Amino acid sequence: MASLLATILRSGTDLVVPTICGGCDTPGSPWCPDCAATLADTPIRLEPRIELPVDAWALGRYRGPYRRSLVSVKEHDRRDLIAPLGRALARGVITLGHWGEIPDGHTLTLIPAPTRRSSARRRGGDPVASMSRVAAGRLGPRVRSLDLLVTSSWARDSVGLDARRRVGNLSGAIRLRYPWTDPGPATSGAVVLVDDILTTGATSAESVRVLAWHGVTVHAVLVVAGA
Ligand SMILES: [Zn+2]
Repeated sequence: MASLLATILRSGTDLVVPTICGGCDTPGSPWCPDCAATLADTPIRLEPRIELPVDAWALGRYRGPYRRSLVSVKEHDRRDLIAPLGRALARGVITLGHWGEIPDGHTLTLIPAPTRRSSARRRGGDPVASMSRVAAGRLGPRVRSLDLLVTSSWARDSVGLDARRRVGNLSGAIRLRYPWTDPGPATSGAVVLVDDILTTGATSAESVRVLAWHGVTVHAVLVVAGA
């Protein structure tokens, strides 16, 4: 019986609603008011080791509920935390907009930073893309999430690509999801690159660069937690 229960628990949160806060381990609710309040703090400006052409912001430092909630999502498959984290990102976007850090255009596109291979394999898809979709949904009809980027350690067959796209395609480990992906919808309006954690800034820098190759100007980077 114990092993059956363990199997059900391991199978994820579709069946079992956790009653331990994913941000602080307090029993009683999956996401406690204290952690929700902490993640509602105003964003902080990061100074990544790798210089970015745009400002990078985090909802907070990678510790406390920021760290624990992301570990819960990635290591313990707490998919139920994607919604509160996505909503927290949405609040961050609103604050950055008020501060004038994101241009006030007709549309805003959130682009999730590309999936690491380890998380790509996980059940239910990439958590960062899921958070980005939650955030976009929260922000209304003029905001969308466009899952444009993936990582790869090889260059895709570049037959059929024009020279500009070909160079972009071969330039590094980050590329458009499909060589034929049309980044068009993101080439106008404001664009924010979103991610869960920013450490060195390498992923963000390469993402911004690759997007620029394809005519997409990123105006800000926003992550849940900055190292
Ligand atoms: Zn909590």
